[in-house]
Amino acid sequence: MSANTFPAQIEPFKWAEQGFTWSGTLPLSRFARITREAVGSVEDQRVQINCKLSMDAYLRLVWFDAEVSAQAPMECQRCLDTVHIPLDLKMHLALVENESLIERLDEDADFIVLGENESSTKGSIDHNAVVDLLALIEDELLLLVPLSPRHDVCQHKHQPTEQDVAEEKRDNPFDVLASLKGKLNS
Ligand SMILES: [Zn+2]
Repeated sequence: MSANTFPAQIEPFKWAEQGFTWSGTLPLSRFARITREAVGSVEDQRVQINCKLSMDAYLRLVWFDAEVSAQAPMECQRCLDTVHIPLDLKMHLALVENESLIERLDEDADFIVLGENESSTKGSIDHNAVVDLLALIEDELLLLVPLSPRHDVCQHKHQPTEQDVAEEKRDNPFDVLASLKGKLNS
């Protein structure tokens, strides 16, 4: 399903104008920094993502909204067994072209200045700045990774059975959401 490939690098203003939305799942292994914290195999771990870009013409910025749900297998620091740490996230992030626009935002709003990490010595507004949405998501997910992961109650007992895994796959709304996405974009 190439139609559901997550775009690696995007130009937020252009894509927001086109009403970019994306829903689906990605393998946890796409998030290298999270995977590095995980133990065992992450092969069957999926990250559920619903996200969109929207223009805010008044504030002259792009909003990136995302709902992300994942589970990272980590080593419980108490019993050393695997604990699946839920990583559930809602993002509402302003993508702004330059710092002068930040003051229009609410004080507690999250934002990034586009092109901040590039050589922006020109001081010109970079309408073509690209962002890596997955990297933005991963930055936020990493904040949810506990320094000392552990079970609420350690017991060694429950391992996901094959039936559990099959049920998770059946719940995957991938197909429905992918078809919705096609309509929104057309
Ligand atoms: Zn434990």
